This record gives sequence, structure tokens and C-alpha cells, in this order.
Amino acid sequence: MRRIAAHYLIDRGQVIPRPVVECDDEGRITRVEQWERLDAMPSTEFYAGALTAGFVNAHSHLELSYLRGAIERGTGFGGFARAIGMVRGNYTMEQRKQALAAASAQMWAEGVQAVADIVNDDSSFEHKRTSPIRYRNFAELFGLCTAVDAMDYLTRESDTTLTPHSTYSLQSAAYIAAAQNDTISVHFMESPDEEALYRGEGSLAAWYSRMGWECDFLHYGSPAKRLIGQTAPKAKVLLVHGCCLKDEDVEQILHHFTTPPTFVLCPQSNRYISGLRAPAELLMRHGAHIAIGTDSLASNDNLSILEELKLLPSVPLAERLRWATLSGAEALGMSGEIGSVEVGKRPGLVLIEGITREGEEWQLSPQATSRRLL
Ligand SMILES: [Zn+2]
Repeated sequence: MRRIAAHYLIDRGQVIPRPVVECDDEGRITRVEQWERLDAMPSTEFYAGALTAGFVNAHSHLELSYLRGAIERGTGFGGFARAIGMVRGNYTMEQRKQALAAASAQMWAEGVQAVADIVNDDSSFEHKRTSPIRYRNFAELFGLCTAVDAMDYLTRESDTTLTPHSTYSLQSAAYIAAAQNDTISVHFMESPDEEALYRGEGSLAAWYSRMGWECDFLHYGSPAKRLIGQTAPKAKVLLVHGCCLKDEDVEQILHHFTTPPTFVLCPQSNRYISGLRAPAELLMRHGAHIAIGTDSLASNDNLSILEELKLLPSVPLAERLRWATLSGAEALGMSGEIGSVEVGKRPGLVLIEGITREGEEWQLSPQATSRRLL
């Protein structure tokens, strides 16, 4: 049994002062109270900072961890995709496995409890089987000429289901087959080229035409309309990036799905690749469900949820932390077990140091850090 006290607990969008969290030896929360006098609490650990539930990284590609620092910044989406293709073969499997294990260990130490992870091969599975992090894998079908069954060898792994890569990289039969699962994770409107393709313009259209590839889905007219046209209303959908979303896209999407989709923001990756901004304000205006992801080390210097949150300073801190914990857990169907500090859950417990306060406004200082206590 442990009793952990701190200055604040930030949980489910609320800031609770003077928390004491008690848990059993398995990390299950048994009691949450507020302390009055620290000297009246023997055998209680005290931390100067804020507690929060373990984070959920709602979008990552752990297997690309070996590409840290290998891809130039600011080349835009086309340049990024080309660069990945060029450097991908330069590393041994041993190097790749070491890099992903190190990145995963660091995520755990910094407080990540669960990850929605995109897989294109099986290099990360061995590590994930013994990792304390709960990995929910999405085997990604990708490529206009790719066969529908190309990822079948990956979906035999537990917690792994098929997902379509995006609304621009798969023909209709492959997209529809990959979108059949209960939960899917789709890269969506990350760059202006995705929508331009539907008008026959931009770098994707030029690339496809050079290769002689024809798309059988452009009659939908836009990425949002294709998403709606080829994804069942009952699907639970994670839509990743969304930098180029407009109000009408969000309205159409929210209207179509019976379970509100989760928009996963990856602000550090957007800054790295294109300088575009994550659409937090737009999505909040529509009351959309939002979670936080890091994308991969190919387009990020770290897989730190806290560093992602630092790039969203206009959003109240308690709300940002809700996106990084409970929202992600809900999107992955894990909110019964993790995502908030409630009796009966095993959410992990994270200490954030470096929070500043001016009046009612709470912010993360540039030096703020997170570390796992439980
Ligand atoms: Zn991604």
C-alpha cells in the first residue's frame, strides 16, 4: 500500500488542491482524499507539484524510433514522405529494435500508460509483449496498389487490428476492407495536398500521375466526404492531425458518426514536418472529442506527451490534461481501467513539476517535466 500526497491533482478536467491518493500493491486506487495538515499524515509520500493519471499517447509509430534525427525538418509533407522512403533501409533490425525499446522505456518513465500505435511490420511486437505499457496496435493498410490482405500476418498478434492509412492512399476496396473494424485510426487532413488531390492538384496528384496510378475515390470530392462515404456510422474512429480541417468538414463528420470520433492532435509533429498548427480551437468550437499523440521520432524530437501539451497554451491546462488522459482512454475503450484517478482503476500516477499559476490561469513552464510515481 502507498499513500501519495501533492499540491494538486488534475483529473477529469478539474484541479483539486491537496490530494492524497492511496493505492494497493498492484497500483489500484483505493482512496482519494484531501489532506489538511501534512504533519498529521505519517507514512505518506509528499511531492511538490501536480498529480495526474497516466497518459494515453493516442498516436504513435513506435517502430520508426530509429529514424530520430534522420529526417530534415520543414520539408513539407511530400518531402517528408520521400525522405522516409530513402533512409528506411539504412538500419539493421538490431538497431531498430534497440531504438524502439529505448523510446518505449522513456515513455513509461515519463508517465505513458497506453499507446495507440501504428504498425507496418512486426518489429515492435517482441518488445510490446513484455512492456508495462498497454499497446493497442493498428496494422496499417497503405498504398494505392496494396492488396487487401497485405497486413493479415500482423493482425494475428493480440491487440492488433487492421486500419486504413488515410483517405488518399488506398483504393476503395482496400479502404472499405480496412475500415470494417470496431476501432480504426486514420491519418486525416494533415496537409493541404490531401484535399487538393480531389481537385487533381498538388503534390500527391502530381506524384500519382507520374507513376500512372489512378484513384477510384475522387468522385467523393473531399477527404471528409470520402471518410463519410466509406466508413460506417457506427465505427469508432481516431482522426489524426486534422491541420487542414474546416468548419464544414467537422460538421459533416460529427453528423455522420454515431459515436463521436476522436480527433488526435500531434502538434510537435506538425511543426516538424510543415509548420502547420494542430486545430485545437476549431475542434473545441465544435465540441469535438480530442486526444493527444506524439506521432513518431521520424517527425519529433521526443515522444513526450507533456511537450505536446506545451504547444497548446491557449487551452486551459486541466482540459489539455483531460485530452492526454481520459479522452485517449475513452477512444481506445480503456476508460474503465485507466485515464482518471478513481477508486478501482489502475491508471498509473504521474507527477508534473514546473506548473506556473497566474490568477486562475495555469500553465506549463518551458522546463516542466513529467515522471511516473506509480
Ligand atoms: Zn502517423
